[in-house]
Formats: sequence, structure tokens, C-alpha cells
Amino acid sequence: MDTKKPLSLTSRVIIGMVTGILTGFIIRALFEGNGFVDAYIVNGLFEVGGKIFIASLKMLVVPLVFVSLVCGTSSLKDITTLGRMGGKTLSFYIITTAAAITLALFMGTVFQPGAGADLTAASTFAATEAPSLGKVIIDMFPTNPISSMAEGKTLQIIVFALLFGIAISAAGEAGERVAAMFNDLNEVIMKLVALLMNIAPYGVFFLMAKLFTGLGLSAIVNLAEYFLVLSAALLIHGLVTYSVMLKAFAGLSPITFLRKMEDAVMFAFSTASSNATIPVTMETAKYRLGVDNKVASFTIPLGATVNMDGTAIMQGVATAFIAQAFNIDLTMGDYLTVILTATLASIGTAGVPGVGLIMLAMVLNQVGLPLEGIALIMGVDRLLDMIRTAVNITGDCCVSCIVAKSENALDIDRFNDPYAGEKEEEVHLHK
Ligand code: ASP
Repeated sequence: MDTKKPLSLTSRVIIGMVTGILTGFIIRALFEGNGFVDAYIVNGLFEVGGKIFIASLKMLVVPLVFVSLVCGTSSLKDITTLGRMGGKTLSFYIITTAAAITLALFMGTVFQPGAGADLTAASTFAATEAPSLGKVIIDMFPTNPISSMAEGKTLQIIVFALLFGIAISAAGEAGERVAAMFNDLNEVIMKLVALLMNIAPYGVFFLMAKLFTGLGLSAIVNLAEYFLVLSAALLIHGLVTYSVMLKAFAGLSPITFLRKMEDAVMFAFSTASSNATIPVTMETAKYRLGVDNKVASFTIPLGATVNMDGTAIMQGVATAFIAQAFNIDLTMGDYLTVILTATLASIGTAGVPGVGLIMLAMVLNQVGLPLEGIALIMGVDRLLDMIRTAVNITGDCCVSCIVAKSENALDIDRFNDPYAGEKEEEVHLHK
């Protein structure tokens, strides 16, 4: 009898990631410039495999966000809960983002990663203006929910789903029938997420192998100080700030929390997109951490769009770095402007790969720093993007747990159970 226990999903994803990275390095070392390997392996197999994986993750985002949020809202006994929950969630998101940029500006000014570069500017970049608060708010309201869904506008989908859910709970018997259907749909979609997670080890392998075949690591040597200060700030925020918050506001164990984040963190790392990671973040929040659907379905998609602490940290360190490299002094007022612009820009932009650089252009513009500073850091941005995306989604789950705990919507036994969530990840395709 075969008694071998199958490897857990997490172990399989780690294996996929590590072998992918090694394969990338080996191909780069042994086959650089080899036409066949380039065309059929790197830009063939790896690219196709990776793209399909990302596409299938993204495919789930809109139906998942809509259906789970409708379920969550329609299950609320009292609609005022929604206002209270929304208030708490947004407050925590704003506090963590502001704390993140402050930490970044502090580390950027203390360690001076750009000092001594002595560059002069001849601006060639153009930046878009940072959105005003009014515009950010107006943009949250859909005129046509179908087009919001088609364009994947998460905030608009959230608003529509909230209203739809409220209407269901106010519609008596008809509402109950629709709610039952949405609950069933939700189960099915979560199964689809589980199904997809089972192919993740291969997807992650393809993504990593492709990325590391082309990743120029020499840029990291040149920008070592920037890279180190930024990674350190990301690590401190990811490990320390969230741990303190979890303990202080919810009395939860940070170690348990961080261990349970591993799947979501790996997905975020390999896709560099909080948006594409929503299905996995949601799965982690609900099944691993024990957050009730009525909280998770609201906090997670909202967080993927408005709460980007890792990205905010990058804005802070990069601004300090560029100011130092071009010998430009920033005033206290400038620093405040950086904090405000970065927070606002992060609310209005979706979590997709590389969007941090676009936001940085807005921030630099706002404080009058040369935009070609962006060219300086572009070479190392991809790797940092992966790390900051992991921080972004960890922040979403941390706030989700805190809000759930305060709303009595956190299953503590599930949170403390190290194996929680494994059953949900099993998919049996035969009856
Ligand atoms: N890639 C990040 C995210 O999706 C955003 C960024 O910092 O570029 O969360």
C-alpha cells in the first residue's frame, strides 16, 4: 500500500519557484544567444505557460470579487455594519500606508542611498498629474456596471456589488432566492480557485524561469544601496509593523499569521500583481486565516486596489534616493506632499505589475524632482516590484484579520490551526 503523504501545495509551489529561478540562471549562463533555446524554450514554452497561468488567475478576479461581495453584503443582518466595517477598513488602510511611506522616507534620509551620485537633470520624461481626491471618488461610481466588469475596474465593481447586496437583503423572499443562488455560485468559484491553485507550481515555474533568464542582475550591483535600503524597509514593514498591529489591535499571533501567508506571498511574488493574486489572497484570508466571507470579500479586493504599502515604501525610498542623486534638498513640506500624493495615487491605481513606477512619476512631479530619476531605478524595479507586491497583499490580509476580529467575524480556531485550509485546496475531479 502506498502510504506516502502527497506534498502540500505550498511545498510544490516553492519547488516550482526555486527550480524556475535555477532554470532561468542556468539557461542564461549556458545558452545565452542560442536561437533555438530563445525561440522555443524561453519565448516559447516559458512565455506561453506563464501567460496562461496569469490569464487564468485574472480570469477569476471579476466574477470572484462580484459574487463573493454580493454574498457578503446580502448576509449582513444589519446594514449599518457595512458602514462601520468600511470605516474601520479604510482607516487601517490609510494608517498603514502613511506609516509605510514615513518609514521609507526615514530610512531614505538616514541611509542616504543616492548620496554622492552628483547627477544633473535634463528632463525628458513626462508625468501624468496625480488624481485629485474628488476624481478618485467620482471614479468609484460606475455608469455601466457591465463595462466596469469588462474593464476590470475593481472599485466600481465593489460599489455595484455592495448596492446589489444591500438590495438583495431588502428584497424579502425574492432576495432570499437570489442570495441562495449567489451562495452556490460562490462555492463553485472558490472551487475554481482551488483548481487553479493546483496547477500553480507549473505556472510559477514558467514565470520564474522566463523572468530570470532575462533579468540583468548587474544593475543591482550598481544600485546596491537603493536596493538594500528599499528591501530592508519592505522587510521591516512586512515583518515588524504588521506583527505589532496584529498583536496590538487584535491580540493575534504574528508568527501564525506570517506562516499562513506563504502561498499568497509566493503568488504575489511571482505575478507582481496584487490584482491577479486576489483569488489566492481571498482563499488565504477565508480558509487559512479564518476571516468570514462578509469581511474578506470586502477588505481583500478593496485592499488590492487602495492599500499598497509596499508600493508606498518604494515611493518614499525612491524619492529620497532621486533627490540625493540630483543634489536637491527636500523641505518638510515636500515630504508631506510625497506622503499625500503617494497615498492618493495608490488609492486610484490598480495593483498591476510596474504601476509603482507610474505613481512615482506623479510623486516626483508634485515635488519638482527630475523625472529621469525613474530611468535610474528602472533596471532593478522588476525584482523590487515582486517584493513590494508581496508586502501589499500581506497588508491587506493583516487589516482583514484585525477588522474581522473586531467584528466578531474571525474563526480563531481556524486561525490557530496550522493545517486549516488544506481541505479546501483539495480538488477531486472524479466522483
Ligand atoms: N505591482 C504592484 C502590485 O500589484 C504595484 C506596484 O508597486 O507596481 O501591488
